[in-house]
Amino acid sequence: MSAEIIDCKQIAKTIKRELTTQGAKLAGDGLVPRLAIILVGDDAPSAAYVRGKERDGAEVGIATDVHRLAGDGDPDRLTLQIRDLIDRLNLDYQVHGIILQLPVPQGVDEDMLLASIDPRKDVDGLHPENQGLIVQGRPRYLPATPHAVQQILVRAGHAPGGKHVVIVGRSRLVGLPLANMLIQKRAGGNATVTICHTATLDLPGYVRAGDIVIAAAGQPELITGEMVRPGAIVIDVGINRVDDATRERGYRLVGDVEHVGVRAVARAVTPVPGGVGLMTRVMLLTNVVRAARESLRR
Ligand code: NAD
Repeated sequence: MSAEIIDCKQIAKTIKRELTTQGAKLAGDGLVPRLAIILVGDDAPSAAYVRGKERDGAEVGIATDVHRLAGDGDPDRLTLQIRDLIDRLNLDYQVHGIILQLPVPQGVDEDMLLASIDPRKDVDGLHPENQGLIVQGRPRYLPATPHAVQQILVRAGHAPGGKHVVIVGRSRLVGLPLANMLIQKRAGGNATVTICHTATLDLPGYVRAGDIVIAAAGQPELITGEMVRPGAIVIDVGINRVDDATRERGYRLVGDVEHVGVRAVARAVTPVPGGVGLMTRVMLLTNVVRAARESLRR
């Protein structure tokens, strides 16, 4: 058996088309969805992610402003500086979505800052209110990566309803919100969910019990073919850099899934790159367009 490679590019294209239509409708009402990104310091991967967000936004008619702050100096003072900026963006009616690009420099109070974003503009879905609404089954903004996984499953014809989903990873960004989303009694949910983490004994035993396996552990090629039940659906969230002297840049990207072995037994697998990462970028855009639409009701 050789697994189907889920065509995330095609799914992303379809969603982008839907968003462009929605954006055009808003433009007809004189509204341009506007995203503010706060980028602190000179972390190269963060700068690259932000450039990607600007480009993606432009494609579907979202205006993006990047607010750059120097990352050196006293972390407490920097925290206050970012807090001031967030306060101003919260009040700016032309700004519909605010992102604090993570990670922030060490010592900066990330939790306080995320909680100071107006929850109605928290398009990353990381504000405690928005995370709480997910737990209660009344989501406002779904965090982009878990939302990407859910959309991939639904749109590729592997809806999780009634299935046993095993999620490897319990982070606030991915595993935890995803588990909460998939257990909800609603379309795209209704799964029976097991979460595995670093204290799980017998990880292979749990993974083998999954109809759907979602690997979000940040461990290169952790999930192997022997661990996966024949015919399972495997979603690889992992993006890990491993040294590779044969590549010009000195590394290559691998997922949390060992693809050669898993593709031999699974029914369908998402690729890395070009899988969940690609879809995550699109799902962020859906939150910005939604935030702009909701602003019309205030
Ligand atoms: P994290 O480090 O915050 O969390 C990892 C989780 O995996 C933890 O809860 C930990 O308990 C669990 N874990 C780690 N090793 C394990 C093991 N050996 N067995 C069982 N559980 C284990 O990471 P994260 O932010 O959730 O990201 C996870 C992966 O997903 C990373 O590779 C990251 O780069 C990737 N990621 C991708 C996207 C995307 O857009 N595709 C977005 C976010 C994160």
